[in-house]
Amino acid sequence: MEPKFSPGPWAYDKNNKTVYLETSGQIICKVNRPNTALDDGNLIAASPELYEALKDEHKKHSQVKCPDICKICKILEKAEGFGESTS
Ligand SMILES: [Zn+2]
Repeated sequence: MEPKFSPGPWAYDKNNKTVYLETSGQIICKVNRPNTALDDGNLIAASPELYEALKDEHKKHSQVKCPDICKICKILEKAEGFGESTS
């Protein structure tokens, strides 16, 4: 089952401390942590593109089934909601 993320690209508005859809302006989330909001917001805003790039590059470089310890598979599973972490 494919995850249904809000479509990218996303952007971070440092004045309102929100991550939003570039196309519609709809807010994805508010970034509240003092001192790191700018960096956190930029990282969150890059998430859809990071996810797609990681998935594409991983597909190119893994010709066979990955071993259970593959970090990229674990990260992709986390992003897709199938990872071990539920919190
Ligand atoms: Zn893998």
